[in-house]
Amino acid sequence: MIIAWRVPLRIAQTSNPPVSLTRFVRTGSPLLLALSVLVIALLLLRPRFNLGVAGIVVAVLGYGLRSILSQVRQIETEDRLRNDRTLLTELALRDGLTGVPNRRAFEEAIEREWRLALRTQQAMSLLLVDIDLFKQYNDRYGHVMGDTCLRHIAAVLQEAVQRPADLLARYGGEEFVLILPGTPPVGACDVAARLCKLVRQLNVMHDDSPIQRVTISVGVASIVPVDGSAPEELIAAADRALYEAKRKGRNRVEQAV
Ligand code: GH3
Ligand code: MG
Ligand code: MG
Repeated sequence: MIIAWRVPLRIAQTSNPPVSLTRFVRTGSPLLLALSVLVIALLLLRPRFNLGVAGIVVAVLGYGLRSILSQVRQIETEDRLRNDRTLLTELALRDGLTGVPNRRAFEEAIEREWRLALRTQQAMSLLLVDIDLFKQYNDRYGHVMGDTCLRHIAAVLQEAVQRPADLLARYGGEEFVLILPGTPPVGACDVAARLCKLVRQLNVMHDDSPIQRVTISVGVASIVPVDGSAPEELIAAADRALYEAKRKGRNRVEQAV
């Protein structure tokens, strides 16, 4: 069995020309072809002058045309590579299930916004959103319906994000996070209350929920960063507020103290 597997491998290895030779032939072929035509044309100049001149013209034009074509192909390849790179960067920062930015995008954004807020000394707010009783939802309606519900909620939250600087991201599982730069606590609580209302209005049935609908809880934290502080403090404060919202019965907003 091992012998049978090895034999074709050796044949395949010996039958392939070296990579450097292949590359030389491929890159040099336009020039070699034009050179061959040119040499033949030069040899023909003395016995058949017109044919020789025509050969020289064909060699020069042919080489020029090939150069233009390869230049066009190179530009197309570069454009395609640039587009592919942009797409890949985009995909690396998006959550596959919901299409909203993922946790990595959030981590990049919070660092950026934190530095900006530190410089401008403006308040920034963070909302941690968690779907209520989502384990029961999955258990009752199945994981596929759970995924659909997550997508709907992500879409509603994304629609509610109004300012270009605001960023919604999937924080993990059934949790989302919203960064609101330049937003003091009052504004952040308004946004949070609006999110809760919008999700309730989605009217996704949930028989294990006290109001028979899927709801969310939101923890709100705000801060004006100072030197030596870190974004983790803001996240931890929002997390504590979210915990309070859960403890007080869910389907509500709590603000960090
Ligand atoms: P609470 O109101 O306290 O938040 O209760 P909960 O049931 O929502 O919280 P818990 O953390 O116990 O459960 C979260 C559930 O979210 C567990 C998991 O089944 C579900 N979940 C997490 N990620 C996904 C996902 O990508 N798709 C689906 N369908 N469910 C998910
Ligand atoms: Mg959770
Ligand atoms: Mg939950």
